[in-house]
Amino acid sequence: MPWKTSAIYYGGDYNPEQWDRETLAQDIPLMKQAGVNMVTLNVFAWGELEADEGVWDEDGFSRLGERIDSLVDAGIAVDLATGTASPPAWMAKKYPDSLPVTKAGVRLGFGSRQGYCLSSPAYREGVVRLSREVGRRFGHHEGVALFHINNEYGCHINECFCDRCGQEFRSWLQRKYGSLQALNDAWGTAFWSQRRRSWEQIDPPAQMPTFPNPAQLADWRRFNNDQLLGLYRLEKAQLNEIAPQVPVTTNFMGYFPPLDYRQWAREVDVVSNDEYPDPADPAAAAELAWSADMQRGYKGKSWLTMEQAPGAVQWRAANATKRPGQWALWSLAQIARGADGALCFQWRQSVAGAETWHGAMVPHVGTENPHWKEMVALGKQLANLSPVAGTPVKADVAILVDWQSEIIRSTAIGPVPHSWLGQARAWHRSLFEAGITADVVGSDADLSGYRMTIVADMAAPDKELAKKLEKFVAGGGQLIATTGTGRFTPAGKATQGGYLGELTSLFGVNVEGTLYGSNAAEADVVTEGEDEHLGGSTPPGSPAGGPDPRVCRITAAIGAPASKRYVGLETVDPALERALDSLCEVRPALRGRTRADAIRVDDAEAIAFFTDGIASDLNGQAAICKRKVGKGQAWYVGTDLDFAGRAAVLALVGAHARIRPTLPDAPAGVEAVKRGKVLFVLNHADKAAELAGIVGTDLLSATQLSGHVLLPPRSAIAVWQ
Ligand SMILES: [Zn+2]
Repeated sequence: MPWKTSAIYYGGDYNPEQWDRETLAQDIPLMKQAGVNMVTLNVFAWGELEADEGVWDEDGFSRLGERIDSLVDAGIAVDLATGTASPPAWMAKKYPDSLPVTKAGVRLGFGSRQGYCLSSPAYREGVVRLSREVGRRFGHHEGVALFHINNEYGCHINECFCDRCGQEFRSWLQRKYGSLQALNDAWGTAFWSQRRRSWEQIDPPAQMPTFPNPAQLADWRRFNNDQLLGLYRLEKAQLNEIAPQVPVTTNFMGYFPPLDYRQWAREVDVVSNDEYPDPADPAAAAELAWSADMQRGYKGKSWLTMEQAPGAVQWRAANATKRPGQWALWSLAQIARGADGALCFQWRQSVAGAETWHGAMVPHVGTENPHWKEMVALGKQLANLSPVAGTPVKADVAILVDWQSEIIRSTAIGPVPHSWLGQARAWHRSLFEAGITADVVGSDADLSGYRMTIVADMAAPDKELAKKLEKFVAGGGQLIATTGTGRFTPAGKATQGGYLGELTSLFGVNVEGTLYGSNAAEADVVTEGEDEHLGGSTPPGSPAGGPDPRVCRITAAIGAPASKRYVGLETVDPALERALDSLCEVRPALRGRTRADAIRVDDAEAIAFFTDGIASDLNGQAAICKRKVGKGQAWYVGTDLDFAGRAAVLALVGAHARIRPTLPDAPAGVEAVKRGKVLFVLNHADKAAELAGIVGTDLLSATQLSGHVLLPPRSAIAVWQ
C-alpha cells in the first residue's frame, strides 16, 4: 500500500509494557501537550504476547489493544511493530540452536536482544505466527497507520556461523553459480591451494590463519543481506495478506554496511530511518545531511525519521547530551532534506533495563524543566509545517554510490584500508560546506535531472553505468570521477589494461598504477580535518610530514615519499587558480592525500600536475584532467583531494554546471536547504547569524519576515517563499 501523509509526524517509540496504569494514565494528556501525533508500539513486546510456543498471553494482547484504542481516541496515529525483533526466553530454552553463533564458534546466550540465528526454523516459524496474530488482531484497526516490521535488522547480529547457516550458504552459492567450476573461477581458488572439489568443502568464512578469500567473504556478506531480507519479506507477506491496506516499513540505520538498503528500499512502502549523530562531533550536522540525502535517494521520496535521541544516548564510550536547541534544530535539518517526521526513541525514559540511561521525551525528572519545554516547543513548530509534508527536495548534484562496489572494496586485501563510502562522503561534505544540496543515489539512478554527477572511488562500475555517464556528459552534464574508480570488474576481479576500466575512453586517460602513502589508514573523512582547514595544509617537515630535517640528519635525508601525509599538485589552469584564489586570502596549496594515480593522458587536457609528497616520483605528470564530450565535460581527479582541493574543483566544475549555493554568502555555521516552496535556514553555530534579504512567512513561528533576520544560536526558520 503506498504511503501518503499530509502532516509531519512527531512522537516516538512508546513501550507501555514498562509502566503501571497510574503512569500510563499520564501519558496521553502529556502527548497531547507536546503535540505528539504518532507513536510506535510493540517493538520489543514478543515476550509479553506469547507465553509459550503458540500460547498467546491474552492479558498482554488486551493491554496492547487498550493502548491502541486510547491513542486513537486521542487522535494519535499508531505505527504498529510486529514485535519480532527479540524472541522470548522460552524459544532460547526450547530451541537452543535458535541462538546465533559467532565467528569463533561461540553460541551466544539469552538475555540481551536480537538473539536469533538468521536461518533458525524456530525463529522463522515464530515470526510468521506472531506477525499474523498481530496483523489479525489489529491490522484493521482504524488507528493503525503503518506496520513496523522487526527493528534495525542486523544491528547486532548480521551473520551467524552455525552449521545450518553454513548449509544455507552452500545452497545460496549453488543457486548463484550453478557449478563448482564457476565458483572456483569466481573465487580464484587456484591461488593458495583453495580449490573446492565438492560443495561440502565450502564453509562460512570463520576465523582463519590470515586473510580469507576476498570473493568468499564478499559472497558471505551478500548471502547474509539476503538472509535478513528474506526474514523481512516473510513478515511482510503475512501482513500484506491479512491487512493489505496498511503500508509497511522497517527502520534503517543511516548507512549500514552489512545491508544493501537500496535493495531493501524497493520493498518498503516508506523509508524510515534511525539517526543518532554524536553531539560531541562538530561534523555531526554534516553527517546528518549525508544520511538524510541518502534516505531521500533510496526511493527518490520523502521518508520518516523513526528514531533519534531526545537527549543523550547510553551506548557510546562518552554520551554527550544534545545542547539547548539542538533537538529541534536536528529534527528540522532532517525535515528540510525530506523527512516527514521527527520521531524518537523513546517517549518515556526507562527506570530499568539496558536503555535506562538513554534520553527520552519524558525524562526521569518529569516535565517541570527546560527539556520538556523543548519537546513541547518543537511539537508546536511541527504542527505548522504540514505544507511541506510529502514535498520534494530539488538537487542539481548527484553523488552515485554502489553497495556491490563497497562490498568488493571492503573485502579486498589492500591496497588501502577501506573506509565505507569514504570518498563519496568527503565530496558530499564539501558540497554541504559550500551550501549545495546533493542527492545521494544508486548507480542505477536516472541522471537526466542533474547538472553535476560525482563518482568517487566507485570500485566496480559496470558497462551500463559507463554508457549512462557518457550520455549524461554528452547531453551537457559535468562529471567528476576520482581515484579508486574502476579498479575491479563487477564480478570482483582486478581490472585489466588500465584501472579506469569501462570509463577509460570517457575520461580520455589510462590509469596505469597508483602510488600509496603510509597514512592511508587516516584517509577517512571523519578523521580528516584537524590539519586540513582551508589554507592550512600540513607543511612538509613538520612532525606529521616526516622527520624534521634540522635535527634528523640521517633519516631526513632518506627519500621516502610514501611517508608523507599529502600528495603535492600544481595547476597550470587559470580557471582552477582563480577557484583556489577565491577560497581565502592566501591561496591554499593544491593537495591530495593517501594516493596518486600514474595517468597516461590519451585524449584529455591536464589542468594540474603532481609535484611532491607521496607523488614525488610522479613529479610533472598529470594529476587532474578534463575532457570535453558533446555539450559537457568529464573531469578525472587522480588523488584524494583535501578539503581545499575539493572546494576548488567544485567551485570550478560547479561554475561550468551553473550551480549556485541555496543561500549565497550564508554566514558561518548556517545551512540552507530548499524543500518545495520552503527555504529552511538552520544556524548550527554558537553565535547568532545575521541574514539579509529573507522575505516570506516563517512557518515555525508564524511570523512575517521582511529582509533582515537575526537567527539565534542553534535555531532555524522555515520560510514559505
Ligand atoms: Zn545460524
